[in-house]
Amino acid sequence: MGLKLNDLIASGEPGRKVLLLGNEAIARGAVEAGVSVAASYPGTPSSEIGLTLARIAEQVGMYFEWSVNEKVAFETAAAAAMSGLRALAFMKHVGLNVAADAFVSLAYTGCPGGFLLVTADDPSCHSSQNEQDNRYYAKLALTPVLEPSTPHEAKEMTVRAYDLSEKHEMPFILRTTTRVSHTRGIVELGEARDRPKIGEYKKDWRRYVLIPANARVRRAVLLEKERDLREEAEKSEFNAVEEGEGEIGVITSGVSYCYVKEAARELGVSPPILKLGFTSPTPYSLIESFSKDLRAVLVVEELEPVLETEVRCTLQKSRLRVEVLGKMTEHIPRAYELNTGIVGAALAKSLGLEWTVEEIPEGKAKAPPRPPVLCPGCPHRGTAYILKQVVGDEAVYSGDIGCYSLVAIPPYNLMDNIHCMGASIGLANGFSKAQGRPVVALIG
Ligand code: SF4
Repeated sequence: MGLKLNDLIASGEPGRKVLLLGNEAIARGAVEAGVSVAASYPGTPSSEIGLTLARIAEQVGMYFEWSVNEKVAFETAAAAAMSGLRALAFMKHVGLNVAADAFVSLAYTGCPGGFLLVTADDPSCHSSQNEQDNRYYAKLALTPVLEPSTPHEAKEMTVRAYDLSEKHEMPFILRTTTRVSHTRGIVELGEARDRPKIGEYKKDWRRYVLIPANARVRRAVLLEKERDLREEAEKSEFNAVEEGEGEIGVITSGVSYCYVKEAARELGVSPPILKLGFTSPTPYSLIESFSKDLRAVLVVEELEPVLETEVRCTLQKSRLRVEVLGKMTEHIPRAYELNTGIVGAALAKSLGLEWTVEEIPEGKAKAPPRPPVLCPGCPHRGTAYILKQVVGDEAVYSGDIGCYSLVAIPPYNLMDNIHCMGASIGLANGFSKAQGRPVVALIG
């Protein structure tokens, strides 16, 4: 009899191929890597990692918790990694804003146990209040980043991240985007490591007590680690050159690589491609050797021109006269997520070709839009109705993040602001001081 999906993720034998969501593949990666402690606060597009771990944690002997917020989740996992255990924290991109303080400090102290932070970025704001690119956090904290293109790669990178994290005693970031987290693909299962339940926290005052005298020392250690990690990126199995034809190459990372491959196939071209999976610290030498004989490189990446900026810096530092095309040259739009059509048009323009591939005809194969709605019988409907009746439209309604944010739209039109997680009460406090109308905060 076939195993159920969660059983396969928990105990599927090595070599077996399973169709997994990117987030399920990361959960399997945590199983294979021998993660002992995992913690998260739910948020799309990262949630299915936790939904999977919640179902299998007991079976595989892992501790998993939904923490009260992302900062607590991060700190829970960080303490486990400081105790020598392998630990996983995961969250949607804006969750890292909440955990940022702890995140930057962990880069300073490092940790003997492997530590992986999965940040699921959300181009096009499918379920988020902004489009922030968390690779900037990696730059801020000098933390290494892996960017998978497919679910299988997400699993493989999760496993590999722990080896590298332990070798360098540094937290790693796995940066996914919605189309990796929520895509299903074939994942080949690997061997699962043992999972110790108890670690040992070795007291080290100079390392873990970040008073200024110690932090100054750790800053130098961090910079040294960055140099070592750049060497790792230069030789990483996740960074590869695909030979091709022509004097225009493509440098790409994450799911954008898939769009590049599909677009090139549609155009009938095969440009040289540098596919980067270990993107930070930037592998300068690799970029330089890939670009040196090219006339131009097109950089294709989701969200901000982070890689493009690094490519520009690398080529300028090496005094290579290679034109860099991408978001800064408006070959690729900076807002919203990419797709094959956008990348195909950019690639065609770079190559002096025309992109003529038709989109799916309107009304034919396209799925109808299905915006989220409150469930039938949801109690938030009643709350919104009563507030309208009792307090009325005169009040300023400070909203917050959750299902109830849907009462911001018709027929309720109840919320006057939704800022970020937990902001409704703080903003309501401010509005109560700053203007004369009644104020209502909605949260929870
Ligand atoms: S709170 Fe959300 S999940 Fe619960 S009933 Fe309302 S809409 Fe449905």
